[in-house]
Amino acid sequence: MDYDFEHDRVAKEAKERGWKTVLLQFPEGIKTFAFDVERELKARGVENTIVSGDPCFGACDLALEPIRYHGADGLVHYGHSPIPSIHAGNVVYVELRAQVGIDDLVLRAVSFLKDMGYGEESRIGIITSIQHIHSIEAACSVLSEHFKCLVGEGDGRIMYPGQVLGCNFSSAKAVNADAYLFIGSGDFHPLGAALSTGKTVIVADPYSGKIRDVSENMEKMLRKRFGRITAAADAASFGILVGTKTGQWRMAEALRLKKLAEMHDKEAHIITMNFFTPEQLNVFKLDAWVSTSCPRVAIDESARYEKPILTPPEFEIVLGIREWEDYVFDEIEG
Ligand code: SF4
Repeated sequence: MDYDFEHDRVAKEAKERGWKTVLLQFPEGIKTFAFDVERELKARGVENTIVSGDPCFGACDLALEPIRYHGADGLVHYGHSPIPSIHAGNVVYVELRAQVGIDDLVLRAVSFLKDMGYGEESRIGIITSIQHIHSIEAACSVLSEHFKCLVGEGDGRIMYPGQVLGCNFSSAKAVNADAYLFIGSGDFHPLGAALSTGKTVIVADPYSGKIRDVSENMEKMLRKRFGRITAAADAASFGILVGTKTGQWRMAEALRLKKLAEMHDKEAHIITMNFFTPEQLNVFKLDAWVSTSCPRVAIDESARYEKPILTPPEFEIVLGIREWEDYVFDEIEG
């Protein structure tokens, strides 16, 4: 997989900002490149770099505290675009755009959509993650020859039109399409988009070259979520989890949920943590968890937790103030 690490730009920015010591932060899948990056930056005159080894999954999680205790002058955050509603001055972002062509892929997605019955009057929205955001224009121009192509502006959590985060699908909802084409890999973003919009989402994966509909996986995921909700139905006590990462802090939401729990005769305790793991939570003797931090914790990681771990809307279903038919994906607005 080829990524553009933009070594020249990073070295130039570090020098222009007068940074003597620079902290480097990488997402999990890219950490293996950390020392190559250090060597490249050193060759360009950035002598003092430190690698942050803490887990990192998004630009919601800038290593700003570590900048202070490492005595670094600035942070280079790799793999994510800025979240506009998070203001941090001494950060350089390297988005790691994927160097992979998508023209043939989009043409195959066109055939796939036509086979599903979409025609020239159909409104097809394009969404993607940051790694393929530069391909949106080309993809839309191919799509426009066959359908009405739509690219939506997101809210303050979203940097680019058409970009989605695992916790925010505002750019998809902005265009109210008949169906969406997600360019990228994995299930988390397209499943979130399908749940958030209630529409069909087709994935065009630039790495495998495959086109697929996520409906079946969404049904599977919903069955799992229904199982977690059912398992939490008899829980008497809940730990309401608040992430202390810059862009995951939702204390107001946690307080709202605690109040709701108490109104429904449930015991609830708010627990703050930077990075949630089942092992850390096991020490607390409670019956179930409600995570207000990254929605991935409850959705993607739930198999690792012995006790049910829910999103806030799922907790509302447990309390009986939301119907299962009104299930919504948990999103963090910007
Ligand atoms: S909260 Fe989760 S999904 Fe949202 S940006 Fe952070 S890591 Fe990504």
